[in-house]
Amino acid sequence: MVIVYYGRLEQLTKELEETRDTLNHRYIKILGQERANKVTDTAKRILGPESFFETTNVLNSYLGYKLPPNTPNKMGLFTRASLELDSRDRLKDRKIRTSIGFYISENGFQYGSSSKFTERMIASYVHEFNHFVYYALQRVPLELVSFILFDKIQARKQPIDIGDYVAQIEEVDLPHEEIFKRLGFAAFSQVLHDSLEQATRVLDKMILESIGINVPLEWRGMERLYQDIQLPTGQILRTGVGGDPFKNLEDKEIIEQLLEWEKYLNPVTRVSSVHNLVESLKGIKVSRVPLQELFKVK
Ligand SMILES: [Zn+2]
Repeated sequence: MVIVYYGRLEQLTKELEETRDTLNHRYIKILGQERANKVTDTAKRILGPESFFETTNVLNSYLGYKLPPNTPNKMGLFTRASLELDSRDRLKDRKIRTSIGFYISENGFQYGSSSKFTERMIASYVHEFNHFVYYALQRVPLELVSFILFDKIQARKQPIDIGDYVAQIEEVDLPHEEIFKRLGFAAFSQVLHDSLEQATRVLDKMILESIGINVPLEWRGMERLYQDIQLPTGQILRTGVGGDPFKNLEDKEIIEQLLEWEKYLNPVTRVSSVHNLVESLKGIKVSRVPLQELFKVK
């Protein structure tokens, strides 16, 4: 059983029961038996009823900040590692423990993007579960890379809007070097978020078509779009803001490249801090544990 759901929403449980066999076959066909087994085993080991949140209240107590009521369904990564960087912006900790929680609620379906093309709850859940598929299969999960970048730049909101972030950084008095570094992290964070989201949509499409749901990918095949941002330091920062970052790749190749991102994903930037951090992250050891184990008081 590749796809599992341990939450308490009856409608979703029912929809999953009706489609589970078909979905599982499709996962095996797309990922191959070995990878499908790895997802199954990881899910079995670290997910349970306590990994699923139907309200934001309990979840907020884990997060330490408040999710707004219009939060769409989402899979979130948790870690309690220090995430401290050394003087060359490499992650100090070489072993990081992580866990996963899902916010899947009646409300969350309304605000999720799958509500634009289907009323079936299973579509939104498959999307979140596909984030889990990447998390389970990537040697170093990109969700963690994203998490660390976000931690370093202290942006007001996630996903990062680079224009908004430039405005935010102008409000504080920082040395030019620091501004340049943070904007490099922010720009890469935005690119990473978009790539991960789009690659997940591609997997959604391949999985959901097996149960008659058509996932529209309007951006597919479009020219990549870039935005030039004038920095307070005088330089211009060019960042990808739309179109198809995988224009010349087949759907299957996109999934492959994201799963093996250490080989394929290299930040296009002149900011050496970004390179140093990303290179240092490629070599860390990441463990995946149940949520209650991560938050257990020692
Ligand atoms: Zn998503």
